[in-house]
Amino acid sequence: MIGVLALQGGFSEHIRALNKLGAETFEIRHLQDLDNRKLDGLVLPGGESTVISKLLHETGLFDPLNQCIRQGTPVFGTCAGLILLASQVDDSRVSGFRSMAITAKRNAYGRQLGSFFAESNFAGIGAIPMTFIRAPQIESAKDNVEVLASVYGRTAAARQDNMLVTSFHPELTDSLTVHDYFLKMC
Ligand code: GLN
Repeated sequence: MIGVLALQGGFSEHIRALNKLGAETFEIRHLQDLDNRKLDGLVLPGGESTVISKLLHETGLFDPLNQCIRQGTPVFGTCAGLILLASQVDDSRVSGFRSMAITAKRNAYGRQLGSFFAESNFAGIGAIPMTFIRAPQIESAKDNVEVLASVYGRTAAARQDNMLVTSFHPELTDSLTVHDYFLKMC
């Protein structure tokens, strides 16, 4: 079962994409949602990283999910989800998992480029559509982080061990390829 963090943001689109691929999913809103469930994979959706981070701590979900991530449960962070996994963020209001060796800058494309669409190569998949919405940029990454896709010279998708991140929203396009990639990690 794939758990999708459903505190705020675009979780339902992820659930739809995963279900289309035949994966079973459940929403994680409260601590009890984790009871008696085997978490084969975790999705951290897009939304507002400051809000999701605050709610993660308020609901008590932070510690058990942090433990799962550290123990190797596959996790897929899109946009705000990427920010929540970054070891460093340019905004002290975000208190995330800090498990991935990347530095993230919030809302990094500025107002003009707040939202845009691009098509670019994803390693092992080929060209895919990418929708960016007030997206973060990965400003730096350690050597153990594999770059999977770049747009305008910036890393748009990356992986480190059990952690996959995209600064774009694959759940908002018809292409299921990135979700399929994630399910293969699970
Ligand atoms: N701008 C949001 C943040 O900083 C992320 C945007 C998104 O997830 N689409 O949290």
